[in-house]
Amino acid sequence: MEGGVDVTKEVPPPPSYSQVTAQGSGGGIYTVPMGQGDLPPPYSPVPTAGESTINCQVCQAVINLEGQRHLTVVQCPTCKEGTAIQDPPPGQRRVRCVCNLLLLYPAGATKVYCVRATCRRLITVTNGIPMFSPAPMYCCVHCHQNFVYRGRTPLARCPYCSRVSAVGGQGRRKGLVYLVLGIILLAVATIITIGTYESAVEHGGYYVAWTGGFVAGIMFIIASLFYFIIPSSPPSSTQSSEG
Ligand SMILES: [Zn+2]
Ligand SMILES: [Zn+2]
Ligand SMILES: [Zn+2]
Repeated sequence: MEGGVDVTKEVPPPPSYSQVTAQGSGGGIYTVPMGQGDLPPPYSPVPTAGESTINCQVCQAVINLEGQRHLTVVQCPTCKEGTAIQDPPPGQRRVRCVCNLLLLYPAGATKVYCVRATCRRLITVTNGIPMFSPAPMYCCVHCHQNFVYRGRTPLARCPYCSRVSAVGGQGRRKGLVYLVLGIILLAVATIITIGTYESAVEHGGYYVAWTGGFVAGIMFIIASLFYFIIPSSPPSSTQSSEG
């Protein structure tokens, strides 16, 4: 065995893949932790026995396989992305997101979310062909980093600076709705107050109703001011293509 690289024996077992987070077969949504994915086999330059280096699939840097032969994926020391050196485990598939992250997913899955915080693309796999849908991205008004936000509320916390801002135009819209509601409530409360003023002298209950109406109206207006004052992070103009 002189000179040859024979690492099929006496190597530690491969590190276990972190398991996908969702169950079920077909149609499920799966996410795979970063750095543990792989390329789809057709694109994997699986090194032949004896080769001790491989080129990174992302940046083409030379990766030394010495001591890493037992792995299915090696990490590029230059760009930190993964490159497959073995087929994926049975029942698993690999896809490389357009952000370069290598993802591993169950063979039946049709929807895979990229787990990279700056990407989060939805990858729809049809007959083994991936389609990439960019996630809604916003440019943080505080730190100017682009971040992904899929939440339903108009307020988003930036993953970089942890500060909250309104995303898109949703905050302003909600503020406007609250303002209109507040004004209507105040107007109604005022009309009722005027209309029932004389009865109120006899029935104290009216005062409670008036107060409730005014307080609710003022609360809505305060809430609307909050949405108008809070800084707004606009949709990102540059859809990240590289994480
Ligand atoms: Zn690389
Ligand atoms: Zn991605
Ligand atoms: Zn930020």
